[in-house]
Amino acid sequence: RPHRLDALPFDNSFARLPARFYTRLAPWGLPEPQLLAVSDEAAALIGLHADEVRRPEFVEAFAGNQPLPGGETLAAVYSGHQFGVWAGQLGDGRAHLLGEVATADGPWELQLKGGGRTPYSRMGDGRAVLRSSIREFLCSEAMAALGIPTTRALALVGSHEPVQRETLETAAVVTRMSPSFVRFGSFEHWAAATDVDALQTLADYVIDRFYPACREDAHPVRAMLAEVSRRTAALMAQWQAVGFMHGVMNTDNMSILGLTIDYGPFGFMDAFRAGHICNHSDTAGRYRFSHQPHVAIWNLQALGHALMPLIEDPEALKAAIEAPFVDTYNRAFIERMGAKLGLPDARAEDAELITALYEVMQENTVDYTGFFRALATLRREATRPEDDAPVRDRFADRDAADAWLARWRERLAGDTRPDAERQAAMHAVNPKYVLRNWVAESAIRAAQAGDMGEFHAVHACLRRPFDEQPEYERFAAPPPDWADGLEVSCSS
Ligand code: AMP
Ligand code: MG
Ligand code: MG
Repeated sequence: RPHRLDALPFDNSFARLPARFYTRLAPWGLPEPQLLAVSDEAAALIGLHADEVRRPEFVEAFAGNQPLPGGETLAAVYSGHQFGVWAGQLGDGRAHLLGEVATADGPWELQLKGGGRTPYSRMGDGRAVLRSSIREFLCSEAMAALGIPTTRALALVGSHEPVQRETLETAAVVTRMSPSFVRFGSFEHWAAATDVDALQTLADYVIDRFYPACREDAHPVRAMLAEVSRRTAALMAQWQAVGFMHGVMNTDNMSILGLTIDYGPFGFMDAFRAGHICNHSDTAGRYRFSHQPHVAIWNLQALGHALMPLIEDPEALKAAIEAPFVDTYNRAFIERMGAKLGLPDARAEDAELITALYEVMQENTVDYTGFFRALATLRREATRPEDDAPVRDRFADRDAADAWLARWRERLAGDTRPDAERQAAMHAVNPKYVLRNWVAESAIRAAQAGDMGEFHAVHACLRRPFDEQPEYERFAAPPPDWADGLEVSCSS
C-alpha cells in the first residue's frame, strides 16, 4: 500500500553522527516549482506510488520549499582529489540531505541537488541548471535499468529562477536517492584533519550499516576496504562493458558503496575510441575511457592512504586493494564482454578476441552499442558474406571485419545452442538504447524551449534498454550531423 508523505518512515542516521560531519540548514527552495518528472521505479523503492509523488506537498518538499516530516536537513562535509591533485575541503555545495526512508531492503537517503548554497559552496551558487539536472535524472534511471549500480533519481523539479552559466539558464532540483552518499573523500577529509576519532566513527558507521559481514573480520576496516575495492572493480567492469565514461572520477565522486555517483560530463561511447575523453574540461585525458579502471585503483589508494591510521600495516593496505580489485575486475570484465559476444563460457584467453575487436572497431570508427546489437543477429554458420551485412557493413574495411568475424566463429565452434537462443542471450546483455549525448541534448533543447515531450520519450525508452521499441528506434542511432562537436564540460 502506497505511503502518504506524512506516513513515510523518515529518519536521518547521518544526523546522529558528531556535529562536525555536517551543517544543519534548510535549502533555499525554488519559487513556483514545476514537477517535470518522476521515476516510478525509484518511488517504488521507498514504497511510494508515483502518483503520490505528484501531489503538491511532495513537489514542495522536492523543490526544497518544505521539509519532510521527520527529516533533518543537512549538508555533509568531505574533501577529495580533483584530477589527481589534493583539493582540500569540498562538501555538499549544492546538495541537501533530507533524511532516509527505512525499507525492508535497507535505507534510502533522499537528497536534493541544486537547492541553494551551503557552507561548502565555495565559489558556487548552490544551484543546478535544468540542462544538467535532465542529464542526471535520465542517466541515473538509465543506468539502473541497465543493471549498473547507481544512485537514483526520484524527481525532477524545474523553475523559472535564472542561473548564470556560459549562458543564462534556469534552475532545477533533482531528488537523488542512495543508501548512502558517503564518498572516498568523506574519509580523506578526516585523514587530512588528522582526526582519527572521526575516521573511526565514519568507518564504524559505514561498516555497521553497509558492510556488517566485515564486523566478523579480525580487522573490520581492512575487510571493508577490500570489499570497497571489489565493488569498485565490479562497477568499472560494468562501465567498460557498456561503454560508459564518467568524466570526473575525482575521489569525492567515488561512492563508498561502489555506485555510479555524480552525473556531470559523462558520456556513452558512440564510435569506439579507447582514448575517448568525454569531458571537455579534462584536457589531459586523465578520465579517458581506457584509463577508468586505472583511475579507480588510484582512487582506492587515496582512500586506503586515508584509512591508514586504522589499517596500520602497509602490507595489509596493499592486500586490501590490489588483489581484490584486479581479481574482481578481470573476472567481471571477461564475464561481461564474453556475454556481450555470445560466448557461453568466457575465459581469460578471450581477452585477445576482445582486444582485436577494439582495434578493428577503432580503425573503422564503428558504433559501439550498435555493433553488439547487430552481432547478435548473425548466424553461427554464415555461408555468404552478405549474411554478415548487419555487422560487416559497419566497417569501411570489410576484410578486417570478415577476419574478426572468422575468429569469433572459431571461438563459437563448440557452442551447440540454436542461433535463436544465443541471439536472445546476447540481446539480454547488449542494450539497444543507451543515453547517447545527442539524445540527452535533444531532450534538453526541447525542454529549454518548454516542451518536455522529447524528455518523456527518452525516459520511457531508457526504462527498457534491452527491448526493441520501434516507436523509439531513432534513439538507437549514432549521432546525427547536428551533434558533431557536441561538448559537455564540468559546467552544470
Ligand atoms: P563536482 O565536480 O560536481 O564533483 O563538484 C565538486 C565540488 O563543487 C562539490 O563540493 C560540489 O558540491 C561543488 N559544486 C559544484 N557545483 C556547485 C555549485 N553550482 N554551487 C555550489 N557548489 C558546487
Ligand atoms: Mg561531485
Ligand atoms: Mg557534480
